[in-house]
Amino acid sequence: MDDKQPRPTPRFDTDALVRGVAMDGRVRVIAVRCDGVSRTLAENQDAGPTAAVALSRAATAALLLGATIKDRQQIGVQLNGNGPLGEIYAVADAHGRVRATVADPHADVPLRDGGVDLPAGIGAGRMTIIKRLAEDEPAFQGVTALTASNVAEDLSEYLAQSEQIESAVALGELIGPEGVTAAGGLLVQMLPGAGLPETLAMQVRLESLPPLSTFFGDGGTAADLARLLGDDVQIMDEGPVAFVCNCERERYARILVAMGPDELTSLRDEQEITECVCHFCGTRYAFDQEQMGALIYGAKLHMARLESMSN
Ligand SMILES: [Zn+2]
Repeated sequence: MDDKQPRPTPRFDTDALVRGVAMDGRVRVIAVRCDGVSRTLAENQDAGPTAAVALSRAATAALLLGATIKDRQQIGVQLNGNGPLGEIYAVADAHGRVRATVADPHADVPLRDGGVDLPAGIGAGRMTIIKRLAEDEPAFQGVTALTASNVAEDLSEYLAQSEQIESAVALGELIGPEGVTAAGGLLVQMLPGAGLPETLAMQVRLESLPPLSTFFGDGGTAADLARLLGDDVQIMDEGPVAFVCNCERERYARILVAMGPDELTSLRDEQEITECVCHFCGTRYAFDQEQMGALIYGAKLHMARLESMSN
């Protein structure tokens, strides 16, 4: 992994991602264990059981995809289904940092056979994969229809259709009375040189994997997870993963200024404190009336500049 960027500090030592190859380098294997990420996401958003699983899977998927990008690039996984959870969005970078949010973390989704029913929570709709060269850079997007609404199969389908890379994705979690306690996943991709024999052999290996929840319960690491695929898996590198939110007051000030002076003036006049809350980490940014006055002044200057440019 790139050492120019500081590595994230994981919540647990087991929160890690490994990259490796199998079948003499013809198959790429990426595995992640991210218990701390999943627990933090659920706590930040006070998520119900279905929302906690959705956040966990989206974040795990983003971390796996993050291992396929580099430098300052970012990759987002967005699910827009018609289920009660609403939009789910996770974004990761190439260094194991991830954040995620769900529109309705308290959505009431009935259990199915006593377990979480993620497809019912997500519903039918589309998956969008969003790539950026860096934060705030324009996005490249690819969209596919949700086929299983369980994130894993949808992502496999996306990679096969949009990127034309034969891929398999497995995501899973262990759920205790207090919610998601362990989580992780695997991404297997055919590299140039791999053909039908490798694809079929990998399918057989994937189908013979134990349920990931069992694996997590036994305390396996990310490297153990990768090695479940076969004795020929070679681990190339390993790095930590963690929930990291990069929100800052300045960003919210810019969002407020972009609303324009009229909107800001009514916000200031209606309330003593205008508060912005980060959807990812729950941090609250408060602007008092005096600070709002400065932003209104900034918004007026911004408008005047735009007008002089259009004249
Ligand atoms: Zn934040």
